[in-house]
Amino acid sequence: MSAQNVKLLNPGPVTLTERVRKALLEPDMCHREAEFAALSKSILSKISAVYTESTEGYVPVLLTSSGTGAVETMLSLVPRASAENGKKTLVVANGVYGDRAAAMLTAQGKSHDVVAAPWTSPMDLAAVEKALATGLYAHVFAVHHETTTGRLNDIDALGVLCKKFDVPLLLDAVSSFAGEKIRFAEWNLLACAATANKCLHGVPGIAFVLVKNEALESRESGATSVYLDLFRYRKEQKNGFSPFTQSVHVLFALREALDELADAGGWERRHQHYAALTKQVREGLYALGIRQFLEDTASYGSTLSSYRLPAGLTYDKLHDHLKNKGFVVYAGQGPFSGEMFRIAVMGDVDASDMTRLLAEIRAVMA
Ligand SMILES: *Cc1c(COP(=O)(O)O)cnc(C)c1O
Repeated sequence: MSAQNVKLLNPGPVTLTERVRKALLEPDMCHREAEFAALSKSILSKISAVYTESTEGYVPVLLTSSGTGAVETMLSLVPRASAENGKKTLVVANGVYGDRAAAMLTAQGKSHDVVAAPWTSPMDLAAVEKALATGLYAHVFAVHHETTTGRLNDIDALGVLCKKFDVPLLLDAVSSFAGEKIRFAEWNLLACAATANKCLHGVPGIAFVLVKNEALESRESGATSVYLDLFRYRKEQKNGFSPFTQSVHVLFALREALDELADAGGWERRHQHYAALTKQVREGLYALGIRQFLEDTASYGSTLSSYRLPAGLTYDKLHDHLKNKGFVVYAGQGPFSGEMFRIAVMGDVDASDMTRLLAEIRAVMA
């Protein structure tokens, strides 16, 4: 199996198309030159255009990091402790990524409370409502698609609460941006964080925050890091530049990936493609006696689904057989490692790949 034929079914980085891979071979470029400014400005406008609703009211800020770096940079919108006026951030968690945001706020010395639900459950919206009613919170942080289990959190319902109590929402949309619906205004969205190498099908190394226009004008930076400062990036990106060296070649690939997305009909078409592949995998596994991990099929998003390992099949055996046949699947995290496996359908994969995958899972179970 040559490396080119491996299909990555982990939630990023994804299998690249040849079109995106070739873009890495563009000529070298200095990030202090005018042609770099033109490149980043064109990428900023393409990112803005992914969701028509964001085109006017929100501005993207690009940085060289993984998705986690974008989430951490987004927290520059939360004031530093000395400027907090006693208000806190409410973190809504039901998986690894909600917990990670709480750890970031702790590392940044910013006061917050966590409304946690079990990883197998929806967000605890009753507890969120009770907390917001106290008036103690200036921001809510939530995870759109919780990649831990594949649950698409009900941000429509959370958004109603953010509106009702007039508290802005910070959203980790790292594994949903360009794959799921995002309702910017209805969710009271202040900003969301995303990455090049999940639903956008780019190369890992560039991430971004999409932030409400006026937020960057009206506030002081709450950054607690020199590098992960959203305000500092935006100040230079207005003119297409960057305070620090950007991953130039990864930007070439991102530009191509954004064009490829637009050519293929935009995020809604991509969403339909993912949903069809995920349905094919779920039904194929069901026929083999493998059950999904979450109780309700409707809880899942389109990009990833989680399953219970069947009796007698260890994760390692499943993984190693599939790896040998050219597929990389993903283990469960935390308490679910050893009981769960996950299949993501982002990147250059199609229905015939899923058919081959299902045949190999049938073979390893035999
Ligand atoms: C993948 C992911 C991240 C982190 O992205 P990295 O690129 O690994 O840093 C954050 N949040 C969610 C929901 C993710 O799926």
